[in-house]
Amino acid sequence: MGFKKGNKSWNTGLTKETDERLKKMGEKRRGIIVSEKTRKNLSDSLKGRIFSEEHRKNMSKSKTGENNPFYGKHHTEEAKMKKSEKLKNREFSEETRKKMSEKQKGIPKSEETRKKIGESHKGIPNPKCSETRKRLFKEGKLKPTNGCFKRGELHPSFNNWSSREPYGEDFSPELRENIRKKYNYRCQECFRHQDELFRNTIVGMRRCKLMIHHIDYNKKNNKEDNLIPLCNSCHQQTNFKREEWTNYFQDKVGELKK
Ligand SMILES: [Zn+2]
Repeated sequence: MGFKKGNKSWNTGLTKETDERLKKMGEKRRGIIVSEKTRKNLSDSLKGRIFSEEHRKNMSKSKTGENNPFYGKHHTEEAKMKKSEKLKNREFSEETRKKMSEKQKGIPKSEETRKKIGESHKGIPNPKCSETRKRLFKEGKLKPTNGCFKRGELHPSFNNWSSREPYGEDFSPELRENIRKKYNYRCQECFRHQDELFRNTIVGMRRCKLMIHHIDYNKKNNKEDNLIPLCNSCHQQTNFKREEWTNYFQDKVGELKK
């Protein structure tokens, strides 16, 4: 017996309460144990069905309010716990988590939820929180500069303030000038000449001198091999990936010696 799409099934609209045939069938099937395989087949064959708008409404109606088989009933504490435990251990994929996060955006959180989030974040400094930043600033862990909210200890390239350590006494103007001279007054990264370097000031463009960079970042190590002239913009680059720059310039100075 085939079933054509669009045809109405003989039992459409009938229930076992209203139709004798259905009632009999139900009674006949009661107690029959269906094998795991059959159940899976049945389940698979039902997956992916597309229902009409009307049918979906009917299905919804038959499960809402008093029609819901669970209407007026409540889960036991034990059942609730079981369900909760099960949900706690769920693991979501990166994609799902992203979707969930997107969905939550713009929805105001309840006081209770916010409290819970606060509890779970205790002890972790949040660089976006102005209170946290004020505290860190007072403790000297945050530098008062603009532009980046991850300052001081919160910054990925935080260096324990080594960049603030005083220079050694022997880091004199004469020594610095000697280093510039040694490298013919050229930035050893972009090779611009000192005469090409200007900086903007309130009174207009001003010439500026090459900066002297400490290759190993130790400002007290003022040996000639540890010093190299850089223009301001190249020198700023050396604030990141310090280890790489150290190796790079050490190789460079080593090559020059040969
Ligand atoms: Zn340069």
